[in-house]
Amino acid sequence: MPYRAPVDDYTFLFDHVVGLSQVVETDRFAEATGDVTTAILTEAGKLCEDIMAPLQRPGDLHPARLENGVVRTSPGYAEGYKAIAEGGWVGIAADPEYGGMGLPMTVTTAVNEMMSAACLSLQLAPLMTQGQIEALEHHASDDIKTLYLPKLISGEWAGTMNLTEPQAGSDVGALTSKAEDNGDGTYSVTGQKIYISWGDNDFTENVCHLVLARLPGAPAGTKGISLFLVPRNIPDEAGNPGVANSLKVVSLEHKMGLHGSPTCVMQYDGATGWMVGPEGGGMAAMFTMMNNARLGVGGQGVGAAEGAYQHALGYALDRKQGKTKGETGTIVDHADVRRMLMAMKADIFAARAIALSCAVAIDMTTATGDAEWKARAAFLTPIAKAFGTEVGMDVAHQGVQIHGGMGFVEETGAAQFSRDVRVTAIYEGTNGIQAMDLVARKMMDGGEAANRLLDEIEEHAEGAKAQFPDLADAVWQASESLREATDWLNAQGDLQDRFAGAVPYLKAFARVLGGHVHLKAAVADAGGAREKLARFYIQRLLPEHVGLLAHAQAGAGDLYALSVDELAA
Ligand SMILES: Cc1cc2nc3c(=O)[nH]c(=O)nc-3n(C[C@H](O)[C@H](O)[C@H](O)COP(=O)(O)OP(=O)(O)OC[C@H]3O[C@@H](n4cnc5c(N)ncnc54)[C@H](O)[C@@H]3O)c2cc1C
Repeated sequence: MPYRAPVDDYTFLFDHVVGLSQVVETDRFAEATGDVTTAILTEAGKLCEDIMAPLQRPGDLHPARLENGVVRTSPGYAEGYKAIAEGGWVGIAADPEYGGMGLPMTVTTAVNEMMSAACLSLQLAPLMTQGQIEALEHHASDDIKTLYLPKLISGEWAGTMNLTEPQAGSDVGALTSKAEDNGDGTYSVTGQKIYISWGDNDFTENVCHLVLARLPGAPAGTKGISLFLVPRNIPDEAGNPGVANSLKVVSLEHKMGLHGSPTCVMQYDGATGWMVGPEGGGMAAMFTMMNNARLGVGGQGVGAAEGAYQHALGYALDRKQGKTKGETGTIVDHADVRRMLMAMKADIFAARAIALSCAVAIDMTTATGDAEWKARAAFLTPIAKAFGTEVGMDVAHQGVQIHGGMGFVEETGAAQFSRDVRVTAIYEGTNGIQAMDLVARKMMDGGEAANRLLDEIEEHAEGAKAQFPDLADAVWQASESLREATDWLNAQGDLQDRFAGAVPYLKAFARVLGGHVHLKAAVADAGGAREKLARFYIQRLLPEHVGLLAHAQAGAGDLYALSVDELAA
């Protein structure tokens, strides 16, 4: 079944669940009216259906490769990227002063999600560039902005993000790449970076790397890290890509999936770079890019889930097996296949709504600078990333199951969704690291941002009680249990006890948020398909929060009950 862009789902969510209207009411985003966003989504949807989706299999079958130091991309990717760039989709959220569309992150998130559903490997290229654009908009000098932003926004040049080194993965503070001041406003950057997504390509004129490195004498840890913009080709005075810089792609990783995306080992040998942000402020500047990318990666998970769901549904509607009592005579009539399809659809709706709610909070922060919105965006970002990608993996996994043996056979493409999406739970901060961020840094306010969300969930549930007493009560109760667990976590003086329950707590939070957004959908579509889906979610998936919260509040003690020797026995 060819990919079909779920434009109606986004517009329903914008109008009835996540409240895009409040974003549009701000001066900053006043132009993003309903007509405009629908037209944008429809146009992006066509690109995804007609141009990107047909590139999904070729990218898997013909991975990017390194030929004499030059990355050769998968068949059709150059044309696909050109179409993305010409459509303006790289610069969809970027500042109009430099050629961007200036659209809200909410609309951008929906567009990025569709692109991920159509072709995850290729979509990662504009996603990286979008993150770089945002980092430069916030932290770069005017000269850098004037030179680089128009080229990145138009898609003529591409951007990457270079944090990881062999000894510095989750612990970015352990990185050792160096930068030395050349005394003329430039720096010489030296070091090796690994796993760099789209570290090079054969379709943009230039590739610009944002590289984290240390100046001589910089303090250890994250405080001593600065950020440098290091282009593959050093722009000449006219702004054209000039001479080659002292950097190269050493090799490409052989991966379990995402084959179309070249994952590069990069070597910098005194490469010329420009500092972005203040000395020692590299992590803060990079965080702008990472937060953008974290929401983007959550959206990748949701997109992959949508692609996998549509694929599995298509197969289920076609495959005849066993006697069925249903309307089609195909496996879609079997109760267990229905169970899987319903869970997939309900979870996609929940994860999508959470990602879009996070995007709304980001937009409201951008438009108003309000501290409460900022705290909400910060709180929702790790949930959107981790839950979106968990749903991506679960749904793709179920998609394989629905295909039966054909799911294990590569030709159907079902397995590719599962292999490709797997890395989304690992990169941009593993999901474990996201959960730790949620229960530590994001709770330094004593749980204020969490409790404000819970207040809102309960207020809405109380309003819905007359219409849907059973559903509303279940959501209200789940929210109260979550509040107790939040208080418990906050009361733990030893962070290890919080970390031990971080992943189940994050998932429980997402489950309850999922109940909330489904309840909103039921209210808006009483008697319709969305109410039916909400019933399924609230009655069958929401109860998972009970087990998750028990796990979240168990502390760290028993995790260490077995010695390392006993673990190995
Ligand atoms: C395909 C791909 C593309 C990538 N693209 C980029 C890119 O463009 N740019 C870039 O800079 N990097 C990129 N990465 C790197 C990616 O961000 C890292 O792999 C990731 O941050 C994890 O680091 P690591 O692999 O060293 O794992 P480790 O940090 O060694 O983690 C191993 C395990 O230990 C856990 N762990 C580690 N530390 C802790 C802790 N303190 N507490 C609890 N658990 C912990 C982790 O959650 C994980 O389960 C990419 C990786 C891949 C595979």
